[in-house]
Amino acid sequence: MSTLRVLGYAANALGQKLEPFEYASPELKEHDVRVSITHCGVCHTDIHAIEDYYGFTTFPFVPGHEIVGHVTAVGSAVIGLKDGDRVGIGWQGRSCAKCEWCLKGETQLCMEIEETTVMVPYGGFSSSVIADYRFVYLLPPTMPSEIAAVLMCAGVTVYSALRTHVTSPAMKVAIAGVGGLGHLAIQFAHAFGCDVTAISSSPAKKDQALGFGADHFVDANDLVSMREVYYGYDLVICTANGGINWSALLMTLKKRGRLALVGFPDIELNSTNLVAHELSITGSLIGNPATMRAMLSFAQEHGITPVVELMPMSRVNEAIQMLKENKARYRIVLVNEMAGTEA
Ligand SMILES: [Zn+2]
Ligand SMILES: [Zn+2]
Repeated sequence: MSTLRVLGYAANALGQKLEPFEYASPELKEHDVRVSITHCGVCHTDIHAIEDYYGFTTFPFVPGHEIVGHVTAVGSAVIGLKDGDRVGIGWQGRSCAKCEWCLKGETQLCMEIEETTVMVPYGGFSSSVIADYRFVYLLPPTMPSEIAAVLMCAGVTVYSALRTHVTSPAMKVAIAGVGGLGHLAIQFAHAFGCDVTAISSSPAKKDQALGFGADHFVDANDLVSMREVYYGYDLVICTANGGINWSALLMTLKKRGRLALVGFPDIELNSTNLVAHELSITGSLIGNPATMRAMLSFAQEHGITPVVELMPMSRVNEAIQMLKENKARYRIVLVNEMAGTEA
């Protein structure tokens, strides 16, 4: 049997532009599924990884983890998936299946997390990818592929944080940052029945934020408006990646309120209000497979719809540049013109 050649786009070294890249597909193991990629979203963590922000990127590096495509091969132990199925794959493509967190079903906390991303060895900006079938999700038949792609990382990330921390629809929730993650977080929080405030440093996004379901909008750069919402929220989900006035943002929490980070901003804190108001700061990483499935059906039921800009995968560098310059509205999905070209 000849080896399958996969075509993709790789960064060959730290911070470099992506270039066409070809590699021999790894062999399919018994729990693996091969997926021929039709769509892949571009996420901020792709850019962070190209810049080795997390400290475990190996080069050449093929980013891409908001994947939709069709199953083209299944291993001998795969259950519930067959050739031709339309599926999605998110950031996590496998897990160790034996650590304490995997045994609890909280696979996103796997002790071997660095090895579990779908980008090891190579990710979704390519013609195909391999993942463990337990991290490959059948999609609702009527859900457009570009919508499903964005839900695979951005969607599950904000849904999981809200599912964990919203304990009552009576909670007042603020979403800081109205971008790829934020515009979805507003939609989910609204669908949960919460009173939702969008906090953004781009006042031009106000009308759209209200359109996504926000009940209120606050300009983060306007300290007078920010002061008016001090002690306002039970929960703030911070989706922004930078430019955050942390002391003002913390002051918007009610006493014993919670700030949940879902992006990876550099954080600078004065502990005074944290202690005096008994605040909590927490992080939330993607979601486990059960949460992914629940998110997909919730999104389908409630019409959660990311705003997507489509670009051909060959323009991947342009897409990354737009994201870096904060120009994506709100998520770029690459359409794979290499589909079906593997040999
Ligand atoms: Zn992501
Ligand atoms: Zn594990």
